[in-house]
Amino acid sequence: MPSTTGVVCPHCGWPDAAEPFQVVSTHATATGGTVWTRCACGSLQVRVVDDHGTRVVSRGRPSPAGC
Ligand SMILES: [Zn+2]
Repeated sequence: MPSTTGVVCPHCGWPDAAEPFQVVSTHATATGGTVWTRCACGSLQVRVVDDHGTRVVSRGRPSPAGC
C-alpha cells in the first residue's frame, strides 16, 4: 500500500490527499511543483508534487471562520 493513500486532515478528517478542499496557489519547481491548499477547517497545507505523486510536507493549524 502506498503511504500516500488514506491521508486525512488530523483537524477535521477531510480526505485531503485525494481531494483538496481548495487550491490556493501552485508553483512549478524543477522536480514538479508545490501546491498550497486550504482544508475545509481552514488549515493551510503545502504539498510537493513529483514523479512519486503528491505528499503533504507541511500543515498549518485550522483557523476559526468569521474572525
Ligand atoms: Zn482540515
